[in-house]
Amino acid sequence: MRPGTLNVRSPFLVAWKQTAHTATLDAITEFEDWLEDPKPDTKPDFKASSKTKVWTELKHHLFEEVFLQKCAYCETRGVGFYPDAEHYRPKASVVNVSDSGGRSKPRCALPDGRTIDHPGYFWLAFHWRNLVPSCKTCNTGAGKGTQFPTSKPNEFLVALSNAELAALHEVPIESTRFAGHYYLGPEDLDEREEALLLNPLNPKEKQHEPLAHLVFGVRGIVTARDNSRRGLHSIRTYNLKYELLRQARQEAQENAWRQYGMDLAMDTSLTGVDRAKLSSGDRPYSEAIRQFIDEGRRIQFSR
Ligand SMILES: [Zn+2]
Repeated sequence: MRPGTLNVRSPFLVAWKQTAHTATLDAITEFEDWLEDPKPDTKPDFKASSKTKVWTELKHHLFEEVFLQKCAYCETRGVGFYPDAEHYRPKASVVNVSDSGGRSKPRCALPDGRTIDHPGYFWLAFHWRNLVPSCKTCNTGAGKGTQFPTSKPNEFLVALSNAELAALHEVPIESTRFAGHYYLGPEDLDEREEALLLNPLNPKEKQHEPLAHLVFGVRGIVTARDNSRRGLHSIRTYNLKYELLRQARQEAQENAWRQYGMDLAMDTSLTGVDRAKLSSGDRPYSEAIRQFIDEGRRIQFSR
């Protein structure tokens, strides 16, 4: 899912993080002010151009440098569209989804005793590990939208002891309204919530490694590996069984296999290295191609 490398020390990202941090503090202030008198129609929104500009900059960078002009979820080439900045953890409202597909709106208890609908992970609206360039099909309509299925409850403000604070992976942001309560970073949330969606920005981590959860077979089909819950939820939420997408994967697999056959006819000493070229990360549907060619080779060489 993630073909390129994200250089977290690049001058671009270092400068971007500073702007994003300011935007994050503003979003928290806006939300905590709203809590004074929480009417739904006055809920803070993220439509102001000054806000969208922040994530648009990062989206361009990720789309060009890391995802090599492909949608981070379905691997469709970005010709003819410019990607959305999709928030892995939704920024303005949350829908949790059960294994059977039942949807529910999580509720959150505030430290002052009130209970509200989960407001969305607004404090991650400008976090570099929460912004995923995606095509419209994956982000809207039948796509992901505000869904965020988890095994454990969706977190919001978390009360932490000093020992718990010291054990966090990332520096959290303390609430100005509720002392001792914190907004956690993505890594700590991952650990507490057990997110059931693959995150294309964390593919090196075992729980987000696509191959551990997805199997791409012949004719572009995709299934969950060993009934992996993360695989099942990702296929459903990212709409990976969408028929036109399946057809596109099948076409890419068959083209690559034909190319592999032609290459082999020219040079019988071809190795796995040459096979890897046909499924390199800059190609659309590279994961589906790689698994298809591996399976084809296995059948070929077992004869
Ligand atoms: Zn897509």
